[in-house]
This record gives sequence, C-alpha cells and structure tokens, in this order.
Amino acid sequence: MLIDNHNRQINYLRLAVTDRCNLRCNYCMPSEGIDFAKNDRLLTIDELIQVSEILVGQGIDKIRITGGEPFVRKDLMLLLRALSDMNGLNEISVTTNATVIGPHIDELKELGIKNINVSLDSINRDTFERITRRNQFDTVHNNLIRLITEGFNVRINFIVLEGQNEQDMIPILEVMKHHKVSIRFLEEMPFNGGTKSFTGIKWNHKAILEHIAESYPDYRKLESPKTSTSVNYKIKGHAGTFGIIPSFSRTFCGSCNRLRVTATGDVITCLYGKPKSNLREVIRGASPKENIENEILKAVGARAKTGFEAQNEHATTVFGNSMTSIGG
Ligand code: SAM
Ligand code: SF4
Repeated sequence: MLIDNHNRQINYLRLAVTDRCNLRCNYCMPSEGIDFAKNDRLLTIDELIQVSEILVGQGIDKIRITGGEPFVRKDLMLLLRALSDMNGLNEISVTTNATVIGPHIDELKELGIKNINVSLDSINRDTFERITRRNQFDTVHNNLIRLITEGFNVRINFIVLEGQNEQDMIPILEVMKHHKVSIRFLEEMPFNGGTKSFTGIKWNHKAILEHIAESYPDYRKLESPKTSTSVNYKIKGHAGTFGIIPSFSRTFCGSCNRLRVTATGDVITCLYGKPKSNLREVIRGASPKENIENEILKAVGARAKTGFEAQNEHATTVFGNSMTSIGG
C-alpha cells in the first residue's frame, strides 16, 4: 500500500499516454500547440504496461488513461488490453475529447472499460469551435450519445470559462436531463501553456452552484466517496447528476489519493507542483522494478500537503505549464 507523508493512501494513478492532441482547447494550450515531446522521449506501450504493473504491485488499484488525447496514440488499445488483464487493477477509466474514440467503442465494451470522461465545454457548435479551435462538434456529440446509449458510465467534463461558455451551463443540464450522465463543472486552472495567467476566477465552485440553483432550486447534495474531487448533486426530475470540481480553489487536497505519470515518464504528486522524478531512464536501465519502486516511494513520501504548498515549488510560476503535458 502507498501511504504519503500526510497519511493519505495513494491508490489512483492518472497515466498520460501522449502529450499530443487533435484539438487546441484555448484553456489547455496555445493555438500553435506546445513543444510536443519527441517520440523517443515518450514511454513505449511496453514501458507503460511495466510501469502500471509495478505501481499496481505497490497498491494502485485504479488507473485513468489520459493525455493529450489518448486515442491519437495509435497503439493505445494494446495498453488497454494489457491493463484489462492485470491482476489487482480494479478500475480502468479513460478521459477523452471523444473525437476519435468511435472505432474503439465496441472493443472498450468488450474489455469491460466502462468509465469514460468526455470533455465537452459547450453544446453550441460555434462556441465549441471557438474554444477547441477545431470543427469536431458533430463527431464529439455523436460519439458522446453513442457512449451513453451503449451503457458506459459517462461523465462530461465542462470547464466554466468566463466570457466563453457560461451561457451553456443550464442548457447542457437541460439537454442531458433524460440521460444517465454526470455533468461535472470544473473551475478553470491556469495551465494553458502560458497564454493566460490569472490568480483568481469568476466562476469558482460557489458561483457555479449559485448559478445552477437559480434555474434549478430543487436540487439536493449527494453523498460522495471521501476521495471524490467533485461535490455531487441531483436535480429533481433529471436522470443523471451534476458535480462541481473546485480544481482552482483546491478544497479537496486533504483527501487526495492521486499520483500522475506523464507520457514522458515524469512523476507528479500534485497538479500544481513540479515533477518529482522521471521514470524513463530508470525503466530503460538496470533493475527497473526495484528502482521504480524506490522512486515512487520517495516521491510519495515527500508530497506537498496542498496544491497551494505545491505551487511554491516553482521558482517563478506554474502558469507556463500546459494541461496537455500534465494529463489533467
Ligand atoms: N484530451 C482529453 C480530454 O480533453 O478529455 C484528455 C486530456 S485533458 C488535458 C484532461 C482534462 O483536463 C480534460 O477534462 C480537460 O477539460 C481538463 N483541462 C485541460 N485544461 C484545463 C484547465 N486549464 N483547467 C481545468 N481543466 C483543464
Ligand atoms: Fe486536447 Fe484535451 Fe487539451 Fe482539449 S483539453 S486541447 S482535447 S488535451
């Protein structure tokens, strides 16, 4: 079992498989993209499987595949097949922009991978295209509906962006009201590759809830697992639920159970902190299992208590990072 220096159990790995993406969401990266990692700096599929196996041996029992866009990596299904066969791993989930998942939906179902988070920040085509800087609205929408109707546990991630999509918060709840999905409204974080830097946000968790409550006063709070980052609610008459993730306000750090490994092998113990180690050369060197276990124990043993504390690890600013490299 992995226990950090603040007595929090770490059992959840967010594993990024690429930093590349076919969208250019303006809250995530600049229009020209970022300085993407060269292929030889990315962990291979075999290395991703090995790292997963070692970490599952250390107590990780839930892995979320993320990126960049995971499905732009052509060999992704090889990893998912291996993970679905891995003893000790109880839950596999994927976060995707749903642009190129279509051909893989049947196999995901066969593999028993049921938890899919789809990022969708607007139900209006023009707004979607302005935010993502690409015209993939219909594809995303069709794949989303297909995932829901095929019975996946779908959660929609909707980042509330001042001046961009706030007018869509109520319509997305309305459009999805007959579907059994969870719509999670996220506070924007300052990880957009340096194009924006901010120290405060209009749409914090309180403002989001107040806005929703104005249209749907008949809502109630739901019990959520202790390690949940979202506070969850049910609106009377809606088939699904909604949640709010205070990712900028960081009220959930006390129960954080996550570890991140980026596509280039960086070990990140907090979104707001600096990488604590890199596993790429370790896995390519002698005694990889033993050395990776040690690197992980060291990183987990020196975690910042909160995202605010972690932010101070940066000599200047954390705001130059892009979420496509961190994995969200
Ligand atoms: N491409 C996939 C997607 O968009 O779902 C997976 C990677 S993406 C970096 C993972 C998650 O991070 C997405 O839900 C995305 O909305 C979220 N994200 C990206 N930039 C963010 C930001 N600046 N603030 C808050 N969340 C962000
Ligand atoms: Fe790509 Fe996801 Fe970033 Fe959008 S949020 S640019 S889909 S990695």
